[in-house]
Amino acid sequence: MNITEELVNEIRNKTNIVEVISNYVPLTQRGKNYFGVCPFHDDTNPSMTVSPEKQFFKCFVCGTGGNAISFVQKYEHVSFIEAVRKVAELSDYHPEALNSVVVKKNVDERREAILKCLHDLNLYYQFALNTPEGQEGLEYLESRHLDSNLQSKYKLGYAFKDGKATIEYLKKKGHSIKTIEDSGIAKMLSVGVYADMNEGRVTFPICDPDGNVIGFSARILVKSDEPKYMNTPETYLFHKTNNLYNFHIAKDAAKLKGYIYICEGFMDVFALSRAGIDACVAIMGTALTKEHIALLRSLNVEIRLCLDGDLPGQTAMMKASAMLTKAGLKFMVVDNQ
Ligand code: ZN
Repeated sequence: MNITEELVNEIRNKTNIVEVISNYVPLTQRGKNYFGVCPFHDDTNPSMTVSPEKQFFKCFVCGTGGNAISFVQKYEHVSFIEAVRKVAELSDYHPEALNSVVVKKNVDERREAILKCLHDLNLYYQFALNTPEGQEGLEYLESRHLDSNLQSKYKLGYAFKDGKATIEYLKKKGHSIKTIEDSGIAKMLSVGVYADMNEGRVTFPICDPDGNVIGFSARILVKSDEPKYMNTPETYLFHKTNNLYNFHIAKDAAKLKGYIYICEGFMDVFALSRAGIDACVAIMGTALTKEHIALLRSLNVEIRLCLDGDLPGQTAMMKASAMLTKAGLKFMVVDNQ
């Protein structure tokens, strides 16, 4: 069934644009209208006005405007029907008729293939951790106070030293060399011969906001000239600057608690998790980016900056503070000396 105009109007009538937009951008009331920082351009002053009377929003600077549905469509980059669904959901309005509307999703086959490959690989890494060869990985994790609960919560693993066999394993599971290359996990030894680039390392999967594995950070266990940590290179799916480590777990906890901690690396996330705090993400050694800000903004909670107390950490903290201030996000700095 297609979505009817009647149903769209019904949803529009039942929703309050102020409530819907507040889920994405903090709004403050001035007179009849509400104001907020516009998410559609690099806004510093609240340039976007929201009118509950007209059920309309408009940015005075970039000119973007529309109703609650078009706001969600633009903000979330989703189809019209998906935006209608989302608005109904945010308004706590669940008309029967909406359930029978078929959402035709554009399936991105390349993306699906990479996700499946990385999913299988991560299961293999998790399995390897609990084999005799994985023992040294296990010992390392335990020396960092990462017990079996944390190991399974964060899906930590170990990559067998025989990296060629790992690639063969993936091929047997039906993944093409093209997909394996696309996933960013293979190094080419000679023409047509590939090995797992994480071989012999402890693996920390990095997930997208939906919890899909999109890359890895892998730590070496022996003394070597190689870098201590190796990260998946930029791939079709993995863009370091777009991702906040642990966002998939933190997002729900943050909404529940009303705050989110931003830390430096995944070890900080594990430490907070041990202390019972799930509402935390790590920027993984990069500066805070526009994409990070968009993710944080979507939570609409207080941000608690908790970067390292050393000089680079403090410099990063000042830069992050400036960016958050510019973006109009509420935050506090946690003393971490
Ligand atoms: Zn604007």
